[in-house]
Amino acid sequence: MKEIKAQIKALRGTKDLLPEEARLWTFLEEKARGVFACFDFSEMRTPIIEESSLFVRSIGQGTDIIEKQMYTFLDRGERSISLRPEATASVVRAYLEHGMDKNTGLAKLFYIGSMFRAERPQAGRARQFHQIGVEAIGSYNPHLDAEVIALLCAILDSFNIIGYKIKLNSLGCAKDKSDLSLGLRKSLEGSISDLCDDCKVRYEKNVLRILDCKEEKCKHAIRKVFQGTEAYLCPECKAHFDSVKSALDILKVDYQIEPHLVRGLDYYTKTTFEVTHHKLGAQDAIAAGGRYDNLVSDLGGPETGACGFAIGMERAAMAIHDMPAVKEGIDIFVATIGDEAYRLGFRLAMELRNVGISADIDYEGRSLKAQMRAADKTGARLTALIGEDEIKNHSITVRNMRTKEQLTIPERSFVPEIERLLEK
Ligand SMILES: [Zn+2]
Ligand SMILES: [Zn+2]
Repeated sequence: MKEIKAQIKALRGTKDLLPEEARLWTFLEEKARGVFACFDFSEMRTPIIEESSLFVRSIGQGTDIIEKQMYTFLDRGERSISLRPEATASVVRAYLEHGMDKNTGLAKLFYIGSMFRAERPQAGRARQFHQIGVEAIGSYNPHLDAEVIALLCAILDSFNIIGYKIKLNSLGCAKDKSDLSLGLRKSLEGSISDLCDDCKVRYEKNVLRILDCKEEKCKHAIRKVFQGTEAYLCPECKAHFDSVKSALDILKVDYQIEPHLVRGLDYYTKTTFEVTHHKLGAQDAIAAGGRYDNLVSDLGGPETGACGFAIGMERAAMAIHDMPAVKEGIDIFVATIGDEAYRLGFRLAMELRNVGISADIDYEGRSLKAQMRAADKTGARLTALIGEDEIKNHSITVRNMRTKEQLTIPERSFVPEIERLLEK
């Protein structure tokens, strides 16, 4: 008796995209690519693995991503490697490594790919998840912040996501952020014991991250002492924020100011934003981004203004209003009876594919009835029928699956006749 082997399952927090869902994702990616082309953004593909220090230096010590969520391991050469938890640091690294700061001017880049974070899996949150994102590197102009937000909206609109909300805030420059940290530490001094254990550590290591804490008692402690980031903005950052807002008004983009919004990454400066959707429940952000004017220099490059965003594909897919029907039927199914007919059909199906006509054939030697059912299932527009008569007469019978009309065409002109029938 043959031994029954144990099946191996996909890892927790990872997901197989079966054809139907994969088709939807391809459809969304193509929509996004179309919008990127209009905004003149070009694709960048960076590796999934990077030196761990890239992420530690950019995202920051004391952030949840670095402390708890990175997939980090030693490779065979004992180097510390991490699976990318997000793509901004990788894109900036590549931008510098290939001298794009010297020859590109403003680099308008987008990426589509998998990211990895070891979080507790739940709806809309996987350990391998997918992002579509952009990085615009090389300008401090507040109109760029507004344009990037408008680009994000154009993509969500193209996905048919309705009723999303844009939350906007400014963190200010490095100086403002450090004033904010000092101010926050001071005002929380009396309530450290009210914070969760993580936040007690954050208080010492990275006090701004307390603003991201989801624990109710920490939110409460923050609400009591913290009015928002705006009070800490220097005149220049305040002017930048005002310009972003008026540029958004010019573009007729709706937003609401969210004075507590800081985002869980250290590299953000000035503008930060988040897009939420009511369909998503607790994890309601479908996209987020902001300006990161210090990241390029923090990673060894020149002082350079930049901003970007990332859309979580899993969450965006959950927020789509009406799923588009993206499956198209094939052009023609080739049904045959008998070995000689099968050999002919097998060859003709390939000749059709070679001229760009989608064709399929049976592989199991099934009855004609079963083959016709298969033709229906594939959504074929036409079916070619080849049996004894057709072999004898060197002709092929072709049925229009919609009108049920049948006609006979000579075998030698089969491919051009099918092309004509399909109007290709
Ligand atoms: Zn400032
Ligand atoms: Zn907390």
